[in-house]
Amino acid sequence: VGVGIAVSALALSLAACGSDEPAAGSSSGAKKVALLLPESKTTRYEALDRPLFTDALKTACADCELIYSNADQDAAKQQQQAEAALTQGANVLVLDPVDGKAAAAVVASAKSQNVPVIAYDRFIEGADYYVSFENEAVGKLQAQTLVDTLKSGGKTSGNIAMINGAPTDPNAADFKKGAHSVLDASGYKVAAEFDTPDWSPDKAQAWMEGQLSAIKNGLVGVYAANDGTAGGAIAALKGGGVTPLPPVTGQDSELAAIQRIIAGDQAMTIYKAVKPQAEAAAKGAVALANGNKPESTTDKQGVPSTILDPVAVTKANINDTVVKDGIYKVSDICTAS
Ligand code: BGC
Repeated sequence: VGVGIAVSALALSLAACGSDEPAAGSSSGAKKVALLLPESKTTRYEALDRPLFTDALKTACADCELIYSNADQDAAKQQQQAEAALTQGANVLVLDPVDGKAAAAVVASAKSQNVPVIAYDRFIEGADYYVSFENEAVGKLQAQTLVDTLKSGGKTSGNIAMINGAPTDPNAADFKKGAHSVLDASGYKVAAEFDTPDWSPDKAQAWMEGQLSAIKNGLVGVYAANDGTAGGAIAALKGGGVTPLPPVTGQDSELAAIQRIIAGDQAMTIYKAVKPQAEAAAKGAVALANGNKPESTTDKQGVPSTILDPVAVTKANINDTVVKDGIYKVSDICTAS
């Protein structure tokens, strides 16, 4: 028994040391993990991803150092931030790319220095690990909830405007594909469609304003790919005097969107639990920084992956989702205004 304990203790301490190979990047000392997020107009990045990843990294590795940057929607800036992280000795990059295709250059640069890359939320070809959600399912849930809302409101036909995400974001294509698979078979007509550059709420608003005179009359619903673009669409509809407001979809469970759902201005959003996403990425980063393989549950285009499930949120389940998981307190949501 005594030997058994000694052996398993040794096995444990060896596991903690990682592989015998010298780790990527700097060979000794505390590991450096770079988190590179794409933008800050969408609130999740600074409000959730960044603090949750920071906490998860501390838990997974007490002495790891975090190098953080946000690219503010600028792919060239993100490339410089990635290069800067590599220069600072990052042992692994956790990259949520502004532009999924342009990120190949970052991967190539990191690989040339033996630094592994985690594709965080948005897929990157050639990455070492990918952590995201079932993104086509996001689009399906958005569109199905829109259709269900229209039907329960007695609207069986009419025009839908589609406001998709950024053409540079691979997730946006998945959301759109999932949404089309439902809408195209629904009996409603996608009368106008827009791919929003940079996911910019202002650009979504300007597009919706421009469409109003043409499609206002037959408009029964708006598919907006996330809460930022939903906010833009709703502002345009209100500004254009569209009453009652048609149901509008969203994604991210931003506080403002949850409040619009309660006020009846937005029909739904998507809750993607960022905590398990950040935790999987942080654990994967520590594993890779130590020359080990991250735990994965599946595979996407040859990249070991962890894919989480999105949940549709309407007025009916705000309590059972974002409130239950501690994302918001009821007092955050219900502010007197
Ligand atoms: C993310 C969404 C986010 C959007 C805009 C997508 O890649 O998955 O959660 O709303 O980017 O930043």
